Amino acid sequence: MNPAAIDALRTYYGYDRFRAGQSTLIEAILDGKDVLGIMPTGAGKSICYQIPAILLPGVTLVISPLISLMKDQVDSLNTAGIEATYINSSLSVKETNERMRDVAAGHYKLLYVAPERLESEYFRELIRGLEVPLIAVDEAHCVSQWGHDFRPSYMTIVRLLRDIEPRPVMAAFTATATDVVKEDIVERLKLREPARVTTGYARSNLAMSVVRNADKRDYVARYVKEHSDQAGIIYASTRREVESVYSFVHSLGVPVGKYHAGLSEEDRARTQDAFQRDDVQIIVATNAFGMGIDKSNVRFVIHNNMPKNLEAYYQEAGRAGRDGDPGECVLLFSPQDVVTQKFFIDQSEASDERKRNDYRLLNDMVQYSHTGDCLQLTIVRYFGEENGEPCGTCANCTDTREQKDVTEDAKMIFACISEMKQRFGVTLTAKVLRGANDAKIRQFNFDRLRSYGRLKHMAEKPLVQLIHALVADGYLRMSDTAYPVVQLMEPVLEVMRGESRVYHKAEPEAPPVSRTSG
Ligand code: ADP
Ligand code: ZN
Repeated sequence: MNPAAIDALRTYYGYDRFRAGQSTLIEAILDGKDVLGIMPTGAGKSICYQIPAILLPGVTLVISPLISLMKDQVDSLNTAGIEATYINSSLSVKETNERMRDVAAGHYKLLYVAPERLESEYFRELIRGLEVPLIAVDEAHCVSQWGHDFRPSYMTIVRLLRDIEPRPVMAAFTATATDVVKEDIVERLKLREPARVTTGYARSNLAMSVVRNADKRDYVARYVKEHSDQAGIIYASTRREVESVYSFVHSLGVPVGKYHAGLSEEDRARTQDAFQRDDVQIIVATNAFGMGIDKSNVRFVIHNNMPKNLEAYYQEAGRAGRDGDPGECVLLFSPQDVVTQKFFIDQSEASDERKRNDYRLLNDMVQYSHTGDCLQLTIVRYFGEENGEPCGTCANCTDTREQKDVTEDAKMIFACISEMKQRFGVTLTAKVLRGANDAKIRQFNFDRLRSYGRLKHMAEKPLVQLIHALVADGYLRMSDTAYPVVQLMEPVLEVMRGESRVYHKAEPEAPPVSRTSG
């Protein structure tokens, strides 16, 4: 390892050694290589570009969408004796001009800017006149339309890159990226054979759980009561739902704030401050809340509604326990949330290809909500990490209920799907199996199928859940379409031939509120 880098780590940050991934990334940058760092929140991305910035001549440009964090970052760099500044929309024109002058005069090692700034011709002109050894792109997934937070202004980064001579080293960082998004980042930011480092996604201090059969309000009320001294975030999918959950939590006498894009910037800033200072214990928010909060002692994140995909979910849930102490992440699943997310995709202006991608990601999210496997491991695999052990703390790892042999029911479900020619969705399949009297069933003559009514003894909800569990366990798959149809997968053959059996844990009547307290 470069001794100057270790020196800088000790002198400016007071740390003794680099964490996994940091040294590789720093060495590569100092060698003039582009890098792509995929590191979960809290893994220590900042140091990976700050130390090269200190060591390299000229000023490193840091592109970050997190305006609210820029000031904090810059303040702490200054406190550590590193010359850094930022330019963003919070500054007056006069302040901006002064800072740009100081940057041009070579007063700084790091300059933080929001991506929107790059759209200014005047700003790009200024940058062209500087020695820029390195451009660090934070939240790099924002450059990809396949990710969950596309920002068009990220597309101007490449334009800037082309303008600067000699070409700066590019260092892109993100907390979450699937393979498609990774390739897209490389492609769109024109990274040149980047050194790639992916550090562990597993967050061993987080206990994940999915709750399917709860009355959501009831669950939240019990949870909040049991965790009255802890900071938490409750995410909901729409503004209206935020308002409703907020009123409900408020009525419980809990200090709570709300946050969504329909509120004024002032209101939102005030809420964020109050949460940061522990004046309010809980924030009820849409996904607009989070990018930019830097509160490390959030103890729980409850999703009142299932988000659109696992990347978004893990990023939001991952805001719990950033200080390394235990955190809980609860997903309250209801089938209605799937309908809501589909509606969002349907009515979006995206291309058909993009919509198909979104449906596929949504299916993965639904599968996560029904899997019997370790939840942490399911997520880590989703992000492409092959190895890993069950976490031992998630709801599935700690589930002591006995597995029930459901082979006969599963076989009937498979037979029904096959008889329906694998062209229909979960709901209709369940109706046929329960022998429902339904216009659509009569229209297709499904009441004449051999499987019609054969699972009459099951209630609709557990039956639908069993089908979803069979999807999550890989016996079935859902098509990537607006109205996903269930299809049979290879493992079904073994079951039908009697070579393997299917097990499933029965859903609890009333799910426990928490496994870490009470
Ligand atoms: P990220 O940007 O990946 O979310 P940060 O760069 O904010 O993470 O770092 C998270 C925390 O870890 C910070 O408090 C940082 O000072 C600390 N940290 C980073 N690198 C090291 C290290 N090598 N040793 C000890 N602490 C570190
Ligand atoms: Zn687990």
